[in-house]
Amino acid sequence: MAIPLLDLKAQYLTIKEEIDAAIQSVLDSARFIFGPQMKALEQEMAQYCGVKEAVAVGNGTDALLLTLEALGVSAGDEVITTPFTFFATAETVALLGAKPVFVDIDPVTLNLDLTQLEEKITAKTKAIIPVHIFGQMMDVERVMEIAARYDLKVIEDAAQAIGAEYNGRKAGSIGHAGTFSFFPTKNLGAYGDGGMITTDDEHLAAQLRMLRFHGCRTKYYHEEVGHNSRLDEIQAAILRVKFRYLDQWNEARRQAASGYGKLLGDLPLTLPGRDPKAKPIYHLYVVRTEKRQQVMERLAEADIASAIYYPVPLHLQKALRNLGCREGDFPVAEGAAREAVAIPCYPELTREQQEHIARVMRKALA
Ligand SMILES: *Cc1c(COP(=O)(O)O)cnc(C)c1O
Repeated sequence: MAIPLLDLKAQYLTIKEEIDAAIQSVLDSARFIFGPQMKALEQEMAQYCGVKEAVAVGNGTDALLLTLEALGVSAGDEVITTPFTFFATAETVALLGAKPVFVDIDPVTLNLDLTQLEEKITAKTKAIIPVHIFGQMMDVERVMEIAARYDLKVIEDAAQAIGAEYNGRKAGSIGHAGTFSFFPTKNLGAYGDGGMITTDDEHLAAQLRMLRFHGCRTKYYHEEVGHNSRLDEIQAAILRVKFRYLDQWNEARRQAASGYGKLLGDLPLTLPGRDPKAKPIYHLYVVRTEKRQQVMERLAEADIASAIYYPVPLHLQKALRNLGCREGDFPVAEGAAREAVAIPCYPELTREQQEHIARVMRKALA
């Protein structure tokens, strides 16, 4: 029995009728861009996250880029973030001519290490991007306290954390803004691309709406040079159907994670570390082992998918070599890059499949 890392086909089959009807209704309406589905999704998202505004954009990368731009990040500024994240987090900073400044990660949660944050702040620092890696929120309230002292902006990269909580507060609701991705494999995934920005700042939301639409407030009157970044009606309609299942799916992922805790707890590997105040959504279930290659090979032989997130930390990426970072600069992130491997964890994963995966892993580590 082949087990994928994520089973989007199985998920579609559980909601096929609703999805097909939602797509058909958009086709019937012939409204494809900036229409009622996108507006409704924005409202539902704002309500879900507990913020005043949500602004839909074309993808999670644009969500970061437009937010950084709207918050005034530009050439010469510094933006502090983690080296253990998807490339887009630092790429968008670099695209604006600003400099990504990395802080090593916490060895337990793999999120940015708050104890090392303050020493990275300089006169050029403009913003901080905490990333909720693999769906576990970090303590953004503390990031906000530090940011307030230096007058910095905080953007939560919540691409992997929709519905995750910290201290009872939702991802994307604590920073000055939160950015989300609806890439198909995210916990709330479209059938194409999509992104969203959440904020309590109405002025920022208005700025973002202008930036996503060529710098216009009124059509054909361009106040600024902006972007073309939009979430189309078909994707919005699909996302609204799937949104209704999100909490239930996230709960199923937490169940799967707790199942792994029991099945794998006695093996010589490191299970995902928990911050007791965090309620994760397990976007990915990432274990750590020095025998990663061996484990991945045994899993592959048994037709079980696994994948490395992330093989190269951002400070060692070729594209960012001008930052002048070297191996050894962020040892915890480099260690995670050497040992981390994601195993299947998704709502439709059955108990039998989990037991099978655990048996193969037990043999691989024997
Ligand atoms: C997926 C992801 C992004 C980018 O989202 P896209 O929709 O693919 O552009 C940004 N940051 C993190 C942490 C991500 O996981």
